[in-house]
Amino acid sequence: MGNIKDYAIATIGSHSALQILKGAKDEGIKTICICKKGAEKIYKQFNVADELIVLDNFDNFEKLEDELISKNAIIIPHGSFISYLGTNRVQNLRVMHFGTKEILEWESNRNMERVWLKKAGLRLPKIFNTPDEIDTKVIIKFHGASGGFGYFIAHTAEEFYERIKGYKGKEDYVIQEYIIGVPLYLHYFYSPLTDEVEIMSFDKRYESNADSIGRIAAKDQLDVDLKTSYTVTGNMPLVVRESLLPEILEMGENVVRTSKELVKGGLFGPFCLETILDPNLNFYVFEISARIVAGTNPFINGTPYTWVRYNEPMSTGRRIAREIKNAIMSDRVEEVLG
Ligand code: AMP
Repeated sequence: MGNIKDYAIATIGSHSALQILKGAKDEGIKTICICKKGAEKIYKQFNVADELIVLDNFDNFEKLEDELISKNAIIIPHGSFISYLGTNRVQNLRVMHFGTKEILEWESNRNMERVWLKKAGLRLPKIFNTPDEIDTKVIIKFHGASGGFGYFIAHTAEEFYERIKGYKGKEDYVIQEYIIGVPLYLHYFYSPLTDEVEIMSFDKRYESNADSIGRIAAKDQLDVDLKTSYTVTGNMPLVVRESLLPEILEMGENVVRTSKELVKGGLFGPFCLETILDPNLNFYVFEISARIVAGTNPFINGTPYTWVRYNEPMSTGRRIAREIKNAIMSDRVEEVLG
């Protein structure tokens, strides 16, 4: 039987590192936090890192690899980890990595992601290949627009051509059907050890200025020529109508099942479906994150759903550590690495 004392859990100090490291400590696993100078204060103050490694930046992250390997560290990737290093560098890491690396390509490529989600039988907002096809309300999303800044809405081709004039030189965009409904982020965990998809939690994002525009009258919105942006500033916890749970679970199961047809090992660990729920209770999925999302951060002490299942505080971070612990103790650690 493997010993968890021989391993460590490591991640970059940002995004969801507090719950990942706290979860690892609660499971009795050593923790390593790799921080950009300045960020270490937080991880010191909250006392979640047995070891803190401070770097000026992440350009030389790979120089740490031998040290991490000698400590049997298992890296937990999160959104900032992937954005600091980039998908290519993550793919080439030699240190142990929780989760299937190949699936990251499927989530980060707009077209591949749609193929995957469609294959899973999910409902997606329609994409319009040319502006002339626009026959309903659409949202124009610029690729790489930080915080969705400058996205705009149009109803007709004429309106599109008029509004796009204000975006000279910006040609990388997608025209997507605009779904009127509420954004709802669905958090799951799939265990390859038990072959079960678990519902972990739900959140909605607090986005600036999309979430503040309604605080001023429509006339004032027009007068000050507001542009909608969707910069995420934080996350708010949610529970959903209980009658929606069977469908939500099935959506997660379908995503996992089809991922196994796409890449060896498929998707496992935490993942999130980003959806809009319309008034007829139809879920439209506009994105998938194949890893822990920051929307799980309100739940360090567990969620209503994990409380029912586990009867103890169980964050997504702790669930990851529990999976690693179970894998180590049953000599199946390879099954949670990728
Ligand atoms: P994204 O950059 O794709 O994450 O989108 C930013 C925000 O725009 C999301 O948080 C949603 O609230 C909203 N959004 C994105 N796609 C759609 C859509 N097809 N219909 C309605 N709202 C959307």
